[in-house]
Amino acid sequence: MKKLMAANWKMYKTAGEARTTAASLAALTADTLPDDREVVIFPQFTALSPVADALRHAAGYSVGGQDVYPAAEGAYTGEISPGMLMDCGCAWVLTGHSERRHVIGESDELVGAKTAFSINAGLKVVLCIGETIEEREAGRLGEVLKRQLDTGLAGVKGDAVPAAIAVAYEPVWAIGTGKVAGPPEIVEAHALVRQLLVARYGQPGNAIRILYGGSVKPENAREIIALDNVDGVLVGGASLQADSFSRIILA
Ligand code: PEP
Repeated sequence: MKKLMAANWKMYKTAGEARTTAASLAALTADTLPDDREVVIFPQFTALSPVADALRHAAGYSVGGQDVYPAAEGAYTGEISPGMLMDCGCAWVLTGHSERRHVIGESDELVGAKTAFSINAGLKVVLCIGETIEEREAGRLGEVLKRQLDTGLAGVKGDAVPAAIAVAYEPVWAIGTGKVAGPPEIVEAHALVRQLLVARYGQPGNAIRILYGGSVKPENAREIIALDNVDGVLVGGASLQADSFSRIILA
């Protein structure tokens, strides 16, 4: 199973800046990307085609959208469809990122609809889940992860896994805060996610990649990637600079 090293560039970088960063990243890692690593860059929408273009000869790299709407086309002002993302060179899309759940107000059900529709349309999905600090302190970690996975994967059939889906465990309290979950917290949450995936899909649930996200940096990436059931990372802040993200990719 290849480790999936994913970069969420959030609402940063113009199209030109994103293209330059992607080209630098490819130059820094193209000859040294290990066979067991795969990289996905999630830039903002206007940067998708330029980034896909900059990475078209970079083996092991692909591009994804940060969001999607569950319809092929229609009167949905401001939204983008899976087909439109693929037209820009995307192979992947993120669903359920905590900033979309907690800042934009997306429901579990909408996240599930986006996930299933995108997979049926031919995209691969990184479904993000994770608890808030209040939920963790109230002992609700297992319940929250189960609810978000049950609803997020409700329309994803067994024949779509493991190829079409990865799950990113991102504790909300660790995203963009500099607070990293410690190894025991990561191992506990990833084991729970693994159990839930196997309960849902049987043996193929063991091959679904589970990524950790939350203040991953070049300094802590190697230790995190080596933990049980950590099959990659989803990185925000430390992925914005080519030098920093290249050190995470190669950690
Ligand atoms: C993210 O945006 O998914 C994320 C994990 O951000 P950061 O690495 O900055 O915590």
